[in-house]
Amino acid sequence: TPGVRPLIAGNWKMHGTLAAARELAAGVAAAPAGTAELLVCPPFLHLLPVAKALGGAVALGAQDCHAAAKGAHTGDVSAPMLADAGARYVILGHSERRADHGESDAVVLAKAEAVLAAGLVPVVCVGESEAQRVSGEAEGVVAAQLAGSLPEGFAAAGGVVAYEPVWAIGTGRTPTEADIAAMHARIRAELQGRFGEAGGKLRILYGGSVKPGNAKAILALPHVDGALVGGASLVAADFLAIADAA
Ligand code: PEP
Repeated sequence: TPGVRPLIAGNWKMHGTLAAARELAAGVAAAPAGTAELLVCPPFLHLLPVAKALGGAVALGAQDCHAAAKGAHTGDVSAPMLADAGARYVILGHSERRADHGESDAVVLAKAEAVLAAGLVPVVCVGESEAQRVSGEAEGVVAAQLAGSLPEGFAAAGGVVAYEPVWAIGTGRTPTEADIAAMHARIRAELQGRFGEAGGKLRILYGGSVKPGNAKAILALPHVDGALVGGASLVAADFLAIADAA
């Protein structure tokens, strides 16, 4: 999108030792500044050491948070805690959270409100299943997820949407370029319908088996303002090659 800085985000999921996280962060931080903004999202436990290893040139994010700012929630982490640790972004509603923890759009909405209240930027993930794609429901499913999970203050905070077809995550499969472009155009229209002019400038990332070999073609599509990268974000050279394609 013209006038919008692309965002290349790495979702490290539940991978790696502390030593590996430090090394990966240092590798990403060593890259010269380019066109794209870089973001890495390590597991909670690795946020602080990764923040230190990044040194500020690369943004830090978390992969989830609780909807409450504090309280009796054993094992959970709040958005203010993430802000305090140096995070700027929080991924919400990833399909693995929706599948593993039963997160609904309403849960994602509540978490997004908490992220905004903490002064952080939500990266809200949406995407259809393979059955929904095959039956022609993909755009409707994604539009409903957006309507149900984006809070009122989303645009004012520069919120990010990540379109991640569930069947393309970690599978090596991607939609056709035409299907990606059509979905991103639909998401743009939904954002503009909801937020007006501000919705035209929000970043819409594509995620699902983005690799150095397909990044250039995907990132060149209209309304693709960056990528959310899983597997390929665990190798600094691959992640940076994807960023170079933006
Ligand atoms: C993800 O889980 O956000 C993702 C896009 O994973 P991968 O790149 O491994 O498909």
